Amino acid sequence: MADKDLITRLDNRLDQLVNIDMGERGVEHLYEAARELQGGALVGAAADALMAVPEGGTVILTTGSVSRAWITPDLGENDGPSGAAAVARALVLARNATCVMLCEETLLPAIRSTCQAAGLFPVTLEQAAIARADKSLATIVMLPYATEDEAGRAQAVQMLDALTPDLLFSTERVGRNEHGVYHSMKGIDYGMGRARVDFLFDEALARGIPVVAVGDGGNEIGMGKVADHVKAYVPYGDTCQCGCGGGIGAVTSCDVLVTAACSNWGCTAIAAAMAARADNAKLLHTPEREALLLDTMVANGLINSTHGIVDDSVDGFPRQSHLAVAELCRTIVSRAL
Ligand SMILES: [Zn+2]
Repeated sequence: MADKDLITRLDNRLDQLVNIDMGERGVEHLYEAARELQGGALVGAAADALMAVPEGGTVILTTGSVSRAWITPDLGENDGPSGAAAVARALVLARNATCVMLCEETLLPAIRSTCQAAGLFPVTLEQAAIARADKSLATIVMLPYATEDEAGRAQAVQMLDALTPDLLFSTERVGRNEHGVYHSMKGIDYGMGRARVDFLFDEALARGIPVVAVGDGGNEIGMGKVADHVKAYVPYGDTCQCGCGGGIGAVTSCDVLVTAACSNWGCTAIAAAMAARADNAKLLHTPEREALLLDTMVANGLINSTHGIVDDSVDGFPRQSHLAVAELCRTIVSRAL
């Protein structure tokens, strides 16, 4: 393993790279606030938490955002799934972890395909236990999560009791505000058909289970940690457009918050920081794999939500930007590999 000072320098460079606010969303303010609160590099803290998962442990991950559910609940956006898949892959390879990915039933097919393109074969919990025991297959377990408040609360308790996870990880997963409303970045109520996974994260935090969360807008799980800054600096952070009387900021907090200009970039940087710690280039999310995942997401109908079209731009950033971020993250940590 590379020396600690080098790892710290690399963490800081990864942090800076993925927090350049190319989307003009105010993420730099959230980044500074999170760094101050956590006392250091965000991606480094996330990588430390993920690498601390016990060998053969269980991690619950979530991502996925139904987009325009008033047209069809089968429509999801393409920021989130590839990043979550990259982190799950790194966890499986580094910790032989059982990764359980949660999303809306309607988005399961697309996110399952994305995880598979990242190298993880979708299996049941029972099958994952066999694979974990003999280390013969990199797997992912895909499970649906309830889309109604009461069912979401009940499932939270039930799922944590049953799975006893070592860590929870969320990326680009919208959480409710103080009035229980789920908002888009434009301040519109888009709770319809949306998984209430934020209740699971609240329950995990109450039980003291470590929670790592990635977000780029302020309306995602984890952003409760910097709620005041979301109100002050993010469009509609203070007052939404739906009339609920709140802003778009999610109330659910986390132990480690990673901000990024695009949530997928945060995940790419986390995988790179994990690779540096393990001195294992296989954990990297490479530009080659990012290209494969972008194509897979297009093939599965996940949309570029900024432009309202199925293509390989994510959050409005073109394909080459995502490949470039993966390449630069790889370059940054190459000094430790
Ligand atoms: Zn509202």
